[in-house]
Amino acid sequence: MRQNRLFARLLPLALLAASPAAAQERPAAPPPPVGQPKLIVAVSVDQFSADLFAEYRDKFTGGLRRLIDGGALFPSGYQSHAATETCPGHSTILTGSRPSRTEIIANNWIDLKAAREDKSIYCAEDESVAGSNSRDYTASPVHLKVPTLGDRLKAAGGGSRVVAVAGKDRAALMMGGHDTDVALWWGSDRFTTLKGRTLPPAADRTNEAIARRLAEARPALELPPTCQGRARPVPIGAGKSVGSGAFARAAGDVRGFRASPEIDGATVALAALLARDMKLGQGPGTDVLAVGLSATDYVGHTFGTQGAEMCLQMLALDRSLHDLLTGLDSLGVPYALVLTADHGGLDLPERARNIAIADAARVSADLAANTVGKAIQAELKLPRQALWGDSSFGDMWVDPGFTPRQKTAVIAAARKRYLASPQVEGVFTAQEIAATPSPTSPPETWTTLQRLRASYNPDHSGDLLVVLKPRVTPIPDPAGGYVATHGSVWDYDRRVPILFWRPGQMPFEQPMGVETVDILPTLAALIGLPVPAAEIDGHCLDLDPGGTSTCR
Ligand code: ZN
Repeated sequence: MRQNRLFARLLPLALLAASPAAAQERPAAPPPPVGQPKLIVAVSVDQFSADLFAEYRDKFTGGLRRLIDGGALFPSGYQSHAATETCPGHSTILTGSRPSRTEIIANNWIDLKAAREDKSIYCAEDESVAGSNSRDYTASPVHLKVPTLGDRLKAAGGGSRVVAVAGKDRAALMMGGHDTDVALWWGSDRFTTLKGRTLPPAADRTNEAIARRLAEARPALELPPTCQGRARPVPIGAGKSVGSGAFARAAGDVRGFRASPEIDGATVALAALLARDMKLGQGPGTDVLAVGLSATDYVGHTFGTQGAEMCLQMLALDRSLHDLLTGLDSLGVPYALVLTADHGGLDLPERARNIAIADAARVSADLAANTVGKAIQAELKLPRQALWGDSSFGDMWVDPGFTPRQKTAVIAAARKRYLASPQVEGVFTAQEIAATPSPTSPPETWTTLQRLRASYNPDHSGDLLVVLKPRVTPIPDPAGGYVATHGSVWDYDRRVPILFWRPGQMPFEQPMGVETVDILPTLAALIGLPVPAAEIDGHCLDLDPGGTSTCR
């Protein structure tokens, strides 16, 4: 009875995570029992860079405070690979494997040999489904070529259940894997699931509660003192500015809902309801709950990372995590939790230049792969566009119908054009990257080629890789949509916090670089799940700061 009352209060409270006033009313549950975890909880905070964590770590009073003060903290975790995007990042967290092994090299890649007309392949789609295209796709984990923690537990046959809930399909599917019992993500205006599955009652209830909230306008949040000093408008052109917003939203504004703390509140509420309804941690096996919190990423892209908006989001994230932990505590089972991020991020250059970073810049629009590809087509008098890509950096593909001689000429011409730009750090061919051994040294020491190697897969990677100079934001014009982003090889995009928490954990902080691929073997050791070292890239992190080890 007590639990039911608690959850009846938790759902509306979590949905109100944006509101600091609601924090005072938040219920607490008794601490969970100590023992071998019956439930593994993995939380990914999208775009939660090590820099954001450092900036706000002394401001947290809710869930993050508890994880910092009572957990094993690795503030220099690395999404060590080059293509620091959402899908590759999520593919590392519960697989122990870098994108070179997961084969999730980017959010999208171009497959010029694909049977369908649209050659852009989304990482979390099954493009073999007839009639699909990259805009109207069938969500699937089929491109993830390695098992997740949940997949391994299921294969071990102990009756484990695997649940993934996220603000994005790629977060839910890359962390949940191929054999989820429940996989839910935010669709266009509600939580949805894989084709052919029905929504669990918890999702229906959450969707109804969200629909009621969306139908109402949301007034601007009050700025607490911590955020007031960060509220300065930064002009971004076309009469627009960012930096002093507070998430006021019109009734029915779904995009405004998504780029705000509201989406995290809803995701946490749904995760907690599912955990209760499914009695996670009370079955015969060890269960897995993966939670992807997307608001930080949408807020970062829409408003940048250094304004009042991100400040409000960081404080709301802390409250949402408090609600999640409260829900997990009330299950009354021993659980272990890890929190990390899929990649870091960088603020918009217009504000960075005001905060002492004079060389922050936006990429020149002429560096877009398709623009360069058309210019090379004309230069070399080729029958078709010479080079393909969806950005001004990263993977670029040469038309596979060209002769080897034409291909060599295209790569040479592209290299020359890119290297002529003062915004380009380097251009690397697939052969150069493939010839580089997978790195084994600490991730902070890797060369650019080693970073690219960790993202390289012969089936999907481009024929050449363009690396922009640090602090060059690959969005030419901020007035059209997103103002800031991530995706580079540089450490502001690679470094993320990793926090482990479990009842009875002796707290410690280890500042050396570790990798997100270390999470899987660390968790597997806690529950006695064997994972052959040759199958993964990560290494177990010993969570016992005393004489004994949690790695076995
Ligand atoms: Zn992301």
